[in-house]
Amino acid sequence: MDTQLYDTVIVGGGPAGLNGALYLGRSRRRVLLIDSGDARNMAAGVMHNVLTNDGASIADFRSRSRAELTRYDVSFHDDEVVSAAGEGDHVVVVTKESGTFRARTLLYAAGVRSLLPPLPGLADLWGTAVFECPYCHAWEVRERPFAVYGGAVPSECLASTLTVWSDDITYLSDRRELPEDERALLAAAGVPVRAERVTGLKPHPDGVRVEFADGGGVAYGALFLHLAMEPRVAALRPWVDAPDLESVQSDERGRTRVPRLYVAGDLGRNMQQAAMAAASGGLAAMAINVDLIREDRPGSLPAPPTPAPTPAPTPAPAP
Ligand SMILES: Cc1cc2nc3c(=O)[nH]c(=O)nc-3n(C[C@H](O)[C@H](O)[C@H](O)COP(=O)(O)OP(=O)(O)OC[C@H]3O[C@@H](n4cnc5c(N)ncnc54)[C@H](O)[C@@H]3O)c2cc1C
Repeated sequence: MDTQLYDTVIVGGGPAGLNGALYLGRSRRRVLLIDSGDARNMAAGVMHNVLTNDGASIADFRSRSRAELTRYDVSFHDDEVVSAAGEGDHVVVVTKESGTFRARTLLYAAGVRSLLPPLPGLADLWGTAVFECPYCHAWEVRERPFAVYGGAVPSECLASTLTVWSDDITYLSDRRELPEDERALLAAAGVPVRAERVTGLKPHPDGVRVEFADGGGVAYGALFLHLAMEPRVAALRPWVDAPDLESVQSDERGRTRVPRLYVAGDLGRNMQQAAMAAASGGLAAMAINVDLIREDRPGSLPAPPTPAPTPAPTPAPAP
């Protein structure tokens, strides 16, 4: 067990965790950042929409960020956190290899996983010719034909949004019967629907070839789709008994209803983008800093606003 008491242990070294570390380091806080190195966007290799880093390699962005942080009292472990839990007035964090750490607060910025559908060939093209986010990737393939894969998760709004980057978009409904409202959106966007079963994807010099059940195939510049997400919160069980952290987040600063636990990045309420993740890491770090001042100098700051009560679950509609 590392006997130091850190002000904050940060779980996750993506934009959220790194920016949180920068704010906390500059606030003269003692910080440990633990990161297992498998970011959500690694498959893409580069990132966009981050000023001065548009098109930068993700690995390079991370190592340059860490280099900047060495000016402050921030240390790093490349490791996986297997459990974290509150214990009295601190949090105990256990890692796979580096041991156990104690901190006054935990900033949890471990991100989410995109759950890829089991379509043969899709995983191999993920991040290079198969994408989810038009703002991140469509510029590079603009004016080429796109396929939008409806599959099990409807993506008709994605198809309409993509019309700004290409006027040749085909919606693959993969045999799903499209309801009238989805059909109307696609018709208004000028996007035709192909209903044949999609059997797989193959690499193609133009981008991706979509294989259909009738044996034919069509090449597109890229295939876009919406995906389900899995929040990476396993290490917080059983301390946090919620399926995700959005449901326990109590304000826009990343505070949660769980004492000493703060959230930032894709796991929180903000839009899932690198710049937003970084901003939310900064916000959470400021909340942590003032909450620690509150603890060290009682009465020196007004209490944070009381969180709004958790909304009651919406009852299921009558059959
Ligand atoms: C293919 C793809 C491309 C994208 N491209 C862009 C883009 O160009 N521009 C853009 O703005 N956004 C892009 N995004 C979205 C962007 O990746 C996320 O919004 C952003 O990475 C979120 O930052 P984060 O810090 O919350 O999480 P992440 O960047 O995912 O970082 C989380 C970190 O936590 C670590 N971690 C998880 N669990 C543990 C644990 N138990 N112990 C220790 N470490 C742990 C992970 O290894 C990871 O390094 C893309 C997403 C995808 C899927």
